[in-house]
Amino acid sequence: MNKLTILIVEDDKYISNFIAVSLEKDGYKVLTASSAAEGLFMFSSHNPDVILLDLGLPDKDGIDVIKELRTCSEVPILVVSARGQEKEKIEALDLGVDDYVTKPFYMGELMARIRVVERNMAKSSMQPEESIFFSKSLTVDYDKRRVLIDDREIHLTPIEYKLLLLLIANKGKVLTHNYIFKQVWGYESIDTKNVRVYMANLRRKIEKNTANPQFILTEVGVGYRFADE
Ligand code: CA
Repeated sequence: MNKLTILIVEDDKYISNFIAVSLEKDGYKVLTASSAAEGLFMFSSHNPDVILLDLGLPDKDGIDVIKELRTCSEVPILVVSARGQEKEKIEALDLGVDDYVTKPFYMGELMARIRVVERNMAKSSMQPEESIFFSKSLTVDYDKRRVLIDDREIHLTPIEYKLLLLLIANKGKVLTHNYIFKQVWGYESIDTKNVRVYMANLRRKIEKNTANPQFILTEVGVGYRFADE
């Protein structure tokens, strides 16, 4: 049973209605706003659980809406961007939005992304944290700091281990190169090619076939996503 309230901020009435109808069919409560100002007002007055945000709004840049929301709230935000808005999309992810879909999208894809956000919300409220992580051939024992592939222990450097834990903690969510760099190295840098280098090493160690990875998926031009089975 699904009782999440989702706020759709989208100025295209056709898209907004289409999403609203699909979400309602799946049991979500839906609120809609057709401008940034209305969206921010609906957010503060209705306290929705998730926001679907179009980046191209008539009165304000979607990026500014995210900045405004993030000053006061960690509400999950899913960005809906148009093709050609790559720069904005990455900026939005760096600002801490949870995921994005690019127009035109399949409703099934959007629903899947919403379910990932939902699962992550449930997980972060779950206590205590699991001490062992399993996924297919991969096992991570957090207490003993051991990583196994098919019950065979593999050696990861401290950076590789940090990378892996960050990806697992954000399973299903796309992380930008900038975000990963900041989280793992602890500071911001314009040169994030180390992320690619270390990610390639990590893949060589945990993936059976690096050309067809089953754990660490590449989001071309954006970053990486840990497979959400
Ligand atoms: Ca728009």
